[in-house]
Amino acid sequence: MIIDTHIHNVKAFKWNNLYRGCLIPKPESFNDVDIENLNNLVKQEISGRDEITCFASVNPENGVPEVDRAVRELGFKGLALDTEANFKFSHDAIWRLFEEIHELDVPVFIHSEPDRINFDLDEVNEAIISFPDVNFIFAHLGIRKGEDFIRIVPETNAFFETSNISGDFITETLENITCDRLVFGSNAEKEYPLEEIQKINSLPISEDDKHKILFSNMADILDLKLPEDNPKEKFGSFVSRFITKFQ
Ligand SMILES: [Zn+2]
Repeated sequence: MIIDTHIHNVKAFKWNNLYRGCLIPKPESFNDVDIENLNNLVKQEISGRDEITCFASVNPENGVPEVDRAVRELGFKGLALDTEANFKFSHDAIWRLFEEIHELDVPVFIHSEPDRINFDLDEVNEAIISFPDVNFIFAHLGIRKGEDFIRIVPETNAFFETSNISGDFITETLENITCDRLVFGSNAEKEYPLEEIQKINSLPISEDDKHKILFSNMADILDLKLPEDNPKEKFGSFVSRFITKFQ
């Protein structure tokens, strides 16, 4: 049973094998009109696919009206802030956005390319500490250029997504934080990258902890109702069937 926190292409996502995927749009521009069109397109794209959860794109300089529209009218379940927009966590507009997110009660996904975040960590910490009820999820463990966010942001509302990070580095990370802070993502664009799942299954941690990373941490963040059967019992066989099917 797997929730994928980070997909870019719904075609890569197979309903029978993955429980849910979070679609993170990748804006090509951040002006208000383009962003509104992108969110509308995403809404069309997932029509009839209840297994996909959408995160809303915004123009970080004026994000409140669009995230409000996307969540209340389009039914999106989170905010995706893209680091390509070069926003700062200290900007008034970003704080207004987080205040709105607090009202809407949805998580924030900080989307970046691996190793390309260049935030001021004090500003990140201040936002995370100031909005303790907002769950922040950092793509690719929030790795900055050669640095590790996780040592600096131990708050329980900060989560770290695992795609494009080596198993060894994740194992090292787990010396500093618990499995409760990690959520699985694949960063799937075309073909589904099964190695991302295998990587989590190969970590030297308990089956319960793998289940937290692959499923239950994100299920809690999204406030999903769990399937009626016991996911822990079925977890091992689900994963092995998934892997067999795609091999
Ligand atoms: Zn991505």
